[in-house]
Amino acid sequence: MVFFEQYDALLSPAERDLVARARGFCAGDFTAELQAAFLRGESFDRRWITSWAALGILGLQAKPEHGGHGASFLCKIRVAQAMARHGFAAAFCLNNLQGQVTRISQAGTAAQREQLLEPLCTGRLLAAPALTEPQGGSDLGALATLARRVEGGWSLTGTKAWITNGTILDGMTVLARLEDGELASFFVLAGAAPAFTRQEIAVPGGRSFRLAELRMEGHVVPNWARLHQPGGALKAAMESVNAARVHVAAMAVASLQAGLAEAVRFSGARHAFGRPLLDHQGLRWELSEVALRLEAANALVFRAACAVNERRPAITLAAQCKKFAVDTALWGLAQCLRAMGAAGAAATCRIPMLLAETRLAAFGDGTNELLMNRIGRNLSRDYGEEAP
Ligand SMILES: Cc1cc2nc3c(=O)[nH]c(=O)nc-3n(C[C@H](O)[C@H](O)[C@H](O)COP(=O)(O)OP(=O)(O)OC[C@H]3O[C@@H](n4cnc5c(N)ncnc54)[C@H](O)[C@@H]3O)c2cc1C
Repeated sequence: MVFFEQYDALLSPAERDLVARARGFCAGDFTAELQAAFLRGESFDRRWITSWAALGILGLQAKPEHGGHGASFLCKIRVAQAMARHGFAAAFCLNNLQGQVTRISQAGTAAQREQLLEPLCTGRLLAAPALTEPQGGSDLGALATLARRVEGGWSLTGTKAWITNGTILDGMTVLARLEDGELASFFVLAGAAPAFTRQEIAVPGGRSFRLAELRMEGHVVPNWARLHQPGGALKAAMESVNAARVHVAAMAVASLQAGLAEAVRFSGARHAFGRPLLDHQGLRWELSEVALRLEAANALVFRAACAVNERRPAITLAAQCKKFAVDTALWGLAQCLRAMGAAGAAATCRIPMLLAETRLAAFGDGTNELLMNRIGRNLSRDYGEEAP
């Protein structure tokens, strides 16, 4: 049985080649570096971001006429999963960078593409979406960063928090409030004056996310840096969050699949009371339960991923699959770790890293409570009728 065969069957040969390229990249020294950095309590070395960019995968979903691969959402998921097997945070960070390339290629103006696309695609310009603020992330209505009209552009004042790659990024897509209350997005470059200040938010076990708080005080951006048509910023942010939920869920499934493989291999090889651990029914049933829930999570993620891929409505499915896959991964990775006895907690085992990093996925792109609110809002519409 090939676990991800459903996805791979829908990829073009060129997309399968991209996934293989990503897999090859991750399987070498990179995977050892992720584990070593985690054990030191540090981020993985940023030179790996440069190498990843050199592989051409940051432009995965950028249009071919912009130098990208024009890959499908399913391909993007498979590339992220190839890396999430080795480290969840690294996969999250690199896909976050890639998302900024996609946004400018697919929705940017000619001026934005001219200024930003090549540096974003080659990794010379690292950027992130910046919505969350220190006073709260779930409630976008409370967003306080202010954008004021000035001669030739906009002046931004406010603080963004929990920004991925925040300690190293050179730019960010800031969601801000205009003076009339409307929300708007701006591409903010670190180099523009006055420079924004940053401070790392150190997260034990999650340093590879490179989370930071970034403060802008009258930071001026030119007119061309306003993204989307007036009135379109919130809708665009919500649409990208929706796809991101499915994406995070898919990575959680890949992390759990890797953890289960490690636990099954270990308990097949290690003996206790005269036979392999896996031959003891109690332990076998525990790992079987993990396998069962992993399959259920994967089936839900696949259903949601196909909907996003085909541009069908997926708000409920996206919320469902993110909550279920992340919860399943957290529970399942803990089971796998426990099934390996003390060896599961040792530095030689990857599961503690996968568990620590996946735990943080529970917050990004919608907390469990927010996801349940999202599902509940459409209960009558989605589940109020008997299916034909
Ligand atoms: C690894 C990581 C990477 C991230 N990357 C980025 C990034 O690149 N860009 C970015 O903008 N943000 C990023 N974030 C921030 C993330 O989007 C926020 O953490 C998330 O939106 C939740 O906001 P909060 O942490 O402020 O929690 P809050 O919104 O303050 O919520 C706190 C708690 O209250 C609960 N709660 C809130 N409202 C309700 C309600 N109505 N009913 C019931 N319970 C409720 C929540 O579920 C949660 O448990 C990242 C976060 C993490 C952990």
